[in-house]
Amino acid sequence: MTAPNTTAEIISTGTEILQGLYPDTNAQYLSKVLNEQGIQVVYHTAVGDDADALRSALQIASQRADIVIIGGGLGPTQDDVTRDVVAEFVNKPLLPDSKAEEWIKKRLTERGIPLQDYILRQSCVPADSLILYNYEGTAPGFIIPATQAHPCIIALPGPPREMHPMVERDVIPFIKKNYAGAVFIRTHIIHTIGVPESFINTSLRDLFTADKRVTLALLAKVGMVDIRLTISASSSDELNELSETFPQKILKRLNPEDVYGFDDDTLELSVGRLLIDNKLRVACAESCTGGFLSMRLTNVSGSSAYITENYVTYSNDAKIKVLGVKAQTLANYGAVSSQTAYEMADGVRRLADADIGISITGIAGPTGGSAEKPVGLVYFGLATKRGVSTYKRQFYGNRHENRLWSTDFALDLIRRSVLNGLNPEISFRFFNTD
Ligand code: ATP
Ligand code: MG
Repeated sequence: MTAPNTTAEIISTGTEILQGLYPDTNAQYLSKVLNEQGIQVVYHTAVGDDADALRSALQIASQRADIVIIGGGLGPTQDDVTRDVVAEFVNKPLLPDSKAEEWIKKRLTERGIPLQDYILRQSCVPADSLILYNYEGTAPGFIIPATQAHPCIIALPGPPREMHPMVERDVIPFIKKNYAGAVFIRTHIIHTIGVPESFINTSLRDLFTADKRVTLALLAKVGMVDIRLTISASSSDELNELSETFPQKILKRLNPEDVYGFDDDTLELSVGRLLIDNKLRVACAESCTGGFLSMRLTNVSGSSAYITENYVTYSNDAKIKVLGVKAQTLANYGAVSSQTAYEMADGVRRLADADIGISITGIAGPTGGSAEKPVGLVYFGLATKRGVSTYKRQFYGNRHENRLWSTDFALDLIRRSVLNGLNPEISFRFFNTD
């Protein structure tokens, strides 16, 4: 069996799932397990406890997946139809398994439950299938290996406490033996900032389907997009080669400055690294973010190499007293203005004798906004030895979001300034900053 690109579909049975009475945690669990084994889950399907519905779901799944896993409907009651539907589908009779029958009898006797014929129905599995004993319950599961006529079909009991041990004990080893082993999987993440998702989507459009061994996904947050690549290969050499070449194809389509990091990198980590590499020091003057930027910068171990002092200057007085903002500036333009942001950044850079001074002043909300200066309006100042520039952004989040996005933008300003030889004038292609 060729291992790469083995696909799976999960069919969960249960009218209650369709009614929204409980979430389909089995599909979630099975997807994780299968992905770890290098099996690509391509569909989740849910059907009610209905033979016709399951039959048609099985028919469709058989045409689009190499492995079909059905969860639930193996019990003894009228609404448990999985066993019969699958047997009919693969054209095999249902035969009783004596070990399963003994187990069911023993379990019922122990619990003082009278043995009724219909209960023993559960000990039947389609001929030639691999039986999966259920030591946590009564109904066994089964695996029907793939043939020319149908994919591999795996039926498992619905209750998670019965399904999970069966998967661990029998299904994973079966998959490892028959499908996995030759599959090598690696995930890469490319972190971008300042570029809309739609733009990245267009730039990478053909790469989404360029190589069957590579799955691309875009994960968008406000202002930032992560590009996630999952590579599956049939040898470690192939995996290493693809890991070298495919991310490069993506990077070639992007402006290098818009990429702030890879994999576990955070924005503050990559800013910290840049500052260390360039032996630069930064100082922050924060108003509406209340120290949030300082916290993020100092989250990075080793940040004392590039931070000596940061200030939270919340009141006008503090801005005047600590940073040397002119009273006249505050009187003429207000605290939330490009003029104040300018003087804050310039002031903090001089005060701390830093290479970069960064300031944030804005209206985090939800109160304090006006027609002229609405909630989410934030000014930034960026001061270096080459001069001072200011930036204006309008955010549309709640208080926490407005503060968070402000720190994202401030970190990005620092980053882009360092990348441009401490130029304080940074142009953004996708949004207005003045
Ligand atoms: P039983 O012998 O208990 O009837 P079964 O194999 O027939 O088992 P179902 O009747 O489909 O399984 O489901 C039994 C119980 O298992 C459900 O009531 C529910 O609590 C749980 N269950 C079933 N399917 C799921 C699922 N997809 N996700 C989470 N829990 C589930
Ligand atoms: Mg049931």
